[in-house]
Amino acid sequence: MSNLLGEVYEPVRASSLVSGSELIEREGVDLQKGMTFRDLEDTLSVFLVLEHDGEFKDTWDARTFTYSFRGHDSTTVSGREHDQIAMYESGKLSDNGKFLKAARAYAEGARRVVLQIQVYEKVSSGVWFDKGIFNLVDARQDTDGGRKVFTFLLQPANLSRIADDAHHGERMMSAAEKAAIWERARGRCEGCGTQTGLRFVPKEGVLKCPACRGEEIGLLG
Ligand SMILES: [Zn+2]
Repeated sequence: MSNLLGEVYEPVRASSLVSGSELIEREGVDLQKGMTFRDLEDTLSVFLVLEHDGEFKDTWDARTFTYSFRGHDSTTVSGREHDQIAMYESGKLSDNGKFLKAARAYAEGARRVVLQIQVYEKVSSGVWFDKGIFNLVDARQDTDGGRKVFTFLLQPANLSRIADDAHHGERMMSAAEKAAIWERARGRCEGCGTQTGLRFVPKEGVLKCPACRGEEIGLLG
């Protein structure tokens, strides 16, 4: 849960991996829907990082601490649109449009409270990674292969305490990297083959359980 002071309570878990059913239970979202807009106190919006035409488009800039999320492809009554759109024919905002409006208002100073978004990455079928909570700081329209698309710019909600985040490196690995490691490892620990408590180890590019990461009580003191 978030609050308006930017303090975010995140329980310590053995792993940031969650099943599809756990994700649905936590967030009440449709797993096919990349963006769920919620602008209510104590309720987070949700972004699901999914492949677009077989490719992940998210990027992390470690210099500016900015995470870029690709908007959703738009389907209207006339079928799938070539471009991502902010508004339907009816004049109703799409989810792209709702997030775009909130992001631009915040960037321009018209909105004081930043919109907070819980982000999950799809690692494999039924396997998701809880990337954490982010602040929506801006948005822009880009082109990709001749299409108009939206790019949403986010920063970790724990930006001021990032040095204390033991899992920052794992968190900010791209969804593409995580999916590739998961596939190579078949969802098992590199050291012992177990399937529980797994984390991605960024420097080694592998999955490891707590024991194989040297996190057993007593080992590290
Ligand atoms: Zn292990």
